[in-house]
Amino acid sequence: MDGAARAADAATRHLGLDLGGTNLKWAVLSAAADGTWEAVARDQQPTRVVEDSDAVPDSIVDQFCELALAAMRAWGPIVSVGVGVPGLYDPETGRTRFLPNVPGPWAGHPVGEPIAAATGLPTALINDARAFGLAELRLGAARGASSMVGLTLGTGIGGALVIGGRLVMGHDGTAGEMGHQTIDPDGPWCGCGNRGCVEAFARADQVAAACGTATAEEAVRAARKGDARALRGLADVGRYLGIGLANMINVASPDVIVLGGGMAAAGELLFGPIRAEIERRATMTDIDQVRLVPAELGVWAGAYGAAVHGAERAGLA
Ligand SMILES: [Zn+2]
Repeated sequence: MDGAARAADAATRHLGLDLGGTNLKWAVLSAAADGTWEAVARDQQPTRVVEDSDAVPDSIVDQFCELALAAMRAWGPIVSVGVGVPGLYDPETGRTRFLPNVPGPWAGHPVGEPIAAATGLPTALINDARAFGLAELRLGAARGASSMVGLTLGTGIGGALVIGGRLVMGHDGTAGEMGHQTIDPDGPWCGCGNRGCVEAFARADQVAAACGTATAEEAVRAARKGDARALRGLADVGRYLGIGLANMINVASPDVIVLGGGMAAAGELLFGPIRAEIERRATMTDIDQVRLVPAELGVWAGAYGAAVHGAERAGLA
């Protein structure tokens, strides 16, 4: 048996589920003995809408159980499950605490337990931005990085922090919330209840406001066409993101910074101002050694990272 065949024999398969208010995504990843990860299958389906918002959490968990069982039949044997959730959760009980953008009473709602019971597999929850970071670390733009900072730029600003090749979770899975670092003590209010957070300046609706457009996507299109206000708006947003990232460089000295989410599509129009602000403020380290790169895994990063987390948390990868 040659080396490749042995590695394939030793590979294990892991299911990742990604909870979204619009779609539920899933992915099956294969983990080889040498630590490399590969996507085997993935798909998504619309989140089942039920009229009664009190019934939404149970409906979504049921849908996940059905998805998981179908994936196990088609792509098994699968040995672990991870679930990415867009908000806060209790890692010990596998219950959600707060999902700001999904209807229904999610406080204390069991998610990990019913999925573990339906599948018979170890099941762990992870925040979706942390899942994004973990996916980019293991099989995306930050492969092989020792330390990494990841930011998702969208409706909110999610973050992930990697030190020593491991995702940092903190005691409750909230480590890496870089979007909520204060960069202006008297700045605008943030959805988190604090004021002057990075997110309060750089989330999608603020980008649109800064650029004089209806949406962030429109802002990027206008800037590409050379619209002066949109270019100025993106430069301002980049400046705020750069301040937050310069702080993170001083804290964590990352070798890679990965930017994902819809706004990352702005490319150099945003990356340029970010880099300039980092150069102005992060003076303790040689920033030529810090790579600033776009994410590689797109909308699948959440499901991939959930699969990796489920496996690592169960001690299976
Ligand atoms: Zn905040």
